[in-house]
Amino acid sequence: MISVIGAGPAGSYLSSLLDDEVKIFDYKENIGKPIQCTGVLTNRFQDYIKEKKFVDNKIYNIELNSKNESHIISLKKPEFIINRYKYDNFLLQKAIDKGAKFYPKHQFRDFRENMIYFSNGEKVKTDILIGADGPLSKVNRISNIQNKKHWVAKQIKVKYKTELDTYKVYFNIPDFFSWIVPEDENTARIGCASSSNINQHFDNFMRKLNVKKENILEYQGALIPQYNPMQKYQKGNVYLIGDAASLIKNISGGGLLPAIKSSHALANSLNKNKDYKKELSKILLKSLNLNYLTRKVLNKFNEKDYDKLIKLLKEYKLDKLDRDNLRYTDLIKPKIGLLSLKALIRNI
Ligand SMILES: Cc1cc2nc3c(=O)[nH]c(=O)nc-3n(C[C@H](O)[C@H](O)[C@H](O)COP(=O)(O)OP(=O)(O)OC[C@H]3O[C@@H](n4cnc5c(N)ncnc54)[C@H](O)[C@@H]3O)c2cc1C
Repeated sequence: MISVIGAGPAGSYLSSLLDDEVKIFDYKENIGKPIQCTGVLTNRFQDYIKEKKFVDNKIYNIELNSKNESHIISLKKPEFIINRYKYDNFLLQKAIDKGAKFYPKHQFRDFRENMIYFSNGEKVKTDILIGADGPLSKVNRISNIQNKKHWVAKQIKVKYKTELDTYKVYFNIPDFFSWIVPEDENTARIGCASSSNINQHFDNFMRKLNVKKENILEYQGALIPQYNPMQKYQKGNVYLIGDAASLIKNISGGGLLPAIKSSHALANSLNKNKDYKKELSKILLKSLNLNYLTRKVLNKFNEKDYDKLIKLLKEYKLDKLDRDNLRYTDLIKPKIGLLSLKALIRNI
């Protein structure tokens, strides 16, 4: 018997792929609420999930903004803006249809000698325990698998008109960025993330965009784990997937596709008795490592460096970007390499 803690995208999707008897536990009664995500899903997700009833919008461009420069890059393939409430519930239903049993109002508390203990006093015996319990994973903490670092994200859903086909990024935060993502003609998801001073960054961004308080429909915010190539994903019969495993694209903070891919890797490993880390390496870790290195360099950039970077992207006419298939050659053009090197040396 396999027990999955967390009915988010990672836990539910994994449960829909497993051959064994599966129980999914979540402390929530209403899965998918509150929404704590911008919902940008890159094109590749269609290789895994055919359904699209949870898609709110599609984007075709990314606009990059620094203090004095701006550049629009068209995307090779459109990306999807999804409704996380509908997405999470679609995936949970998929798992239930496959035969998994769902137990809401079960908060994971402890795990000893194959026995899971819940805050409601219940206990369940299991052969395998899977932590799909998000950025603050208690399964990880109890099992002592990873040391985690996070960005703090703050976002609003707001009445705000912006180009419906364009995802706007603002390099105005030292270790991350701010964003505007269109949900429909009149609504946008606007936010930022950073490992420090999030309220100050958020307030500055709201002032810059002249966002009126009365137009704010919802406040959303949560932690985004930071990927580290040295991290582990398993100890004995305990495995981690999705945010619990800190499987995140460090350039963008995207964890939805890594959640899908890590679920596939673990399902392959458990169904076919293969090594989980090897399965992860095959489909995910290379791209996360490239993201990790690029984020390391970007975090050394100051405002002037970002201005230069955007000028260079214009000069190199970087276009038709495929974010699912980033390669070193896409990112390291001679002058961009030099700019990165200067930023790194300046910060040694
Ligand atoms: C503001 C913000 C914007 C983001 N935008 C994007 C984006 O645009 N694109 C993208 O790809 N990614 C984005 N992300 C990241 C994305 O939201 C996560 O990577 C994704 O939710 C990971 O799914 P998960 O199933 O691993 O974890 P979660 O979605 O966190 O699900 C974990 C589940 O575990 C349950 N749980 C937690 N603790 C316990 C416990 N002790 N017992 C029982 N149940 C428990 C929770 O209730 C939840 O249902 C964003 C994150 C934030 C914070």
